[in-house]
Amino acid sequence: MAEEKKKNLIEEFIEFVSRGNVIDLAVGVIIGGAFTSVVNSLVGDLIQPMIAAIGGNPEVKGMAVVLNGQTIDFGAFISAIISFLITAAAVFAIVKAVNQAARLKELAAEKAGLLKKEEEEAAPEPRTCPFCKQEIADDATRCPHCTSKLEGYTNAAE
Ligand SMILES: [Zn+2]
Repeated sequence: MAEEKKKNLIEEFIEFVSRGNVIDLAVGVIIGGAFTSVVNSLVGDLIQPMIAAIGGNPEVKGMAVVLNGQTIDFGAFISAIISFLITAAAVFAIVKAVNQAARLKELAAEKAGLLKKEEEEAAPEPRTCPFCKQEIADDATRCPHCTSKLEGYTNAAE
């Protein structure tokens, strides 16, 4: 009984791991981690030294003020805000690009649909009876709906 339960759990686990979204999530986490280090480098190696340079003291990272023995690091706080803004902007750009791609795809589909519609419109319209306006065969000489005599009608009895 316990053996069977264990097997089921393993099967369940394999099923869970082999699900596509777990792989997608793992890729997302790895890419996210790599992206975080890029942002951190941009902020830590480029922006923070710039702030320090503007602050006038390249030796100190950021604009830190020592007050009663406590360090109040404005530079670190500002760089955290900048880091957040850059990340938010990058994510916004990615989402916008994805939305744009989706919109383009939609437009392309719409265009293809339009072309198809045009093609359909280009096809000859079915012949209609001039009296009852019902659809009739191209070579009909008498309307099957209203029995009107059509072009080319010949009857030996008449
Ligand atoms: Zn008719």
